[in-house]
Amino acid sequence: TKPALSFLGLGALGTAFARAWLAAGYPLTVWNRTAARAEPLAAEGARVARTAAEAVAAADLVVVCLLDDASVGDVLADADLAGKDLVNLTTGTPAQGRARAEWAAARGARFLDGGVMAVPPMVGDPDSGGYVFYSGSRDLFEAHARTLAVPAGTKYVGTDAGHAALHDVALLSAMNGMFAGVAHAFALVRKEDIAPREFAGLLAGWLNAMAPFVHRVAEQLELGDYTEGVVSNLAMQVAGNATLLRTAEEQGVSSELLAPYMELMERRLADGHGDEDGTGVIDLLAR
Ligand code: NDP
Repeated sequence: TKPALSFLGLGALGTAFARAWLAAGYPLTVWNRTAARAEPLAAEGARVARTAAEAVAAADLVVVCLLDDASVGDVLADADLAGKDLVNLTTGTPAQGRARAEWAAARGARFLDGGVMAVPPMVGDPDSGGYVFYSGSRDLFEAHARTLAVPAGTKYVGTDAGHAALHDVALLSAMNGMFAGVAHAFALVRKEDIAPREFAGLLAGWLNAMAPFVHRVAEQLELGDYTEGVVSNLAMQVAGNATLLRTAEEQGVSSELLAPYMELMERRLADGHGDEDGTGVIDLLAR
């Protein structure tokens, strides 16, 4: 049997999650601040609650997907959470996740924080590779494992309610750096007779080929030895950076996206670590 669930927050992502449960036959109650956004789901069979408190009262499993952590507090302020299982798909920081877990516990609810690694079109498509990091109550996660797996894959990352957000933000941060590099690369070739589509294929192939080096970084961190298995030492890399910067200048492209990382590499080299990989930069980032 499929448990009833209530879903609050029908933005782009929330609607995709709610729709996936509805399509899978789960009895669903929805609520959204702007009521018009609930109409399409109502037409597909969802029950629409008039208030957030009414939506919470309608099911034991309550899922929220709102703009930010503050809106979660606002929306649930008047709701009776005693005995509820609350799952929060709203993006927040690790500290917000932990604070929200304490807040929920004080109101008598079990709590699971989520970090969504998917964009709306990936939700409900089992082949998309999209998934959600979950952390917090293991009992809640296990009790609803099948339900939670309906819209997207699930990865439970521990009882610390902050860890879903931490994993989420760490992956997004790495993605930011990657897209910074992608922006610089396209800027370099842009004015030349190089077809962007063909170049994109080369770029994607190269990024895929380089991605597995994250495992070497992990090994070096675990060993505490950043010279283990080095194939491109830092001294060579820093020398190569000069060529990257000079090329940017020749092509009339700002190096502002590359410069901060290169400065850290230079500092690590200046500290006498030319025989390492780039892993030592991680030490320089720790405050
Ligand atoms: P949208 O901007 O599409 O929707 C935001 C939702 O939050 C709406 O339902 C909005 O209600 C509601 N909301 C905002 N402020 C308040 C408030 N003060 N009180 C009540 N309701 C409020 O965002 P998404 O659905 O795209 O994203 C939701 C969450 O999911 C965010 O935390 C986002 O970071 C995260 N996320 C989004 C992804 C994406 O690709 N879209 C991917 C991964 C995570 P109203 O309709 O009334 O404005």
